[in-house]
Amino acid sequence: MSQVQERLRSFLQNIDSQKVKLVAVSKTKPNELIQEAYDSGWKRFGENKVQELAEKYEALPKDIEWHLIGSLQTNKVKYIAPFVALIHSLDRLKLIKEVNKQGEKIQRKIPGLIQIHIAEEATKSGFSFEEAEAFLSSGEASNYPFVSFKGFMGMATNTNDPTQIKEEFKALKSFQEKMQTDQAVLGPDLDILSMGMSGDYQIAIEEGSNMIRVGSAIFGPRQYH
Ligand SMILES: *Cc1c(COP(=O)(O)O)cnc(C)c1O
Repeated sequence: MSQVQERLRSFLQNIDSQKVKLVAVSKTKPNELIQEAYDSGWKRFGENKVQELAEKYEALPKDIEWHLIGSLQTNKVKYIAPFVALIHSLDRLKLIKEVNKQGEKIQRKIPGLIQIHIAEEATKSGFSFEEAEAFLSSGEASNYPFVSFKGFMGMATNTNDPTQIKEEFKALKSFQEKMQTDQAVLGPDLDILSMGMSGDYQIAIEEGSNMIRVGSAIFGPRQYH
């Protein structure tokens, strides 16, 4: 067994795969490592750059479920619209409009999560709770029939204080629950809660995450050039 296969296997032993879906974040990693994970049966991967995602999609087996997890420029949506399994980062109205437009062109309802800004850092993006609630309750979401709203995504503050991370995740979980009960039409579909990465997935799961995005704990540390 290769190192990636070994790490993936032991990682999966520590989570309840019935309740929590793992997105193996393969950004910056070569196709060979993704293929190794695939060969051991893994098919759900996440990338944060459109070009890299499109290249990997072309080169690797077609039954891989590709997730787009990072900030997405509107002019690049068209490259992933035909195949992306889930866009985790619908973080502004302009992007939702563009995803809808590209979906309409190819007559595909594109699945996405509304990203909520729960961290302290201003560099992290997303709707505020108030904006997201207004968007959903005003019925505005129904103006975008080619976007399939599946739930929410959030990234916690990069801090060593587990209490703060816990509070941020907790707030997002209760927001999701509120939206699921308050929104008669969309509510029942908003059942994905994407939160937790290598450093904080345990806290995220405790706080109700059902989709974690884990890269370095499986593929090893990333090197940026
Ligand atoms: C890179 C990335 C991850 C995974 O990060 P790790 O710390 O390597 O697990 C998760 N979510 C997003 C949005 C990312 O960009």
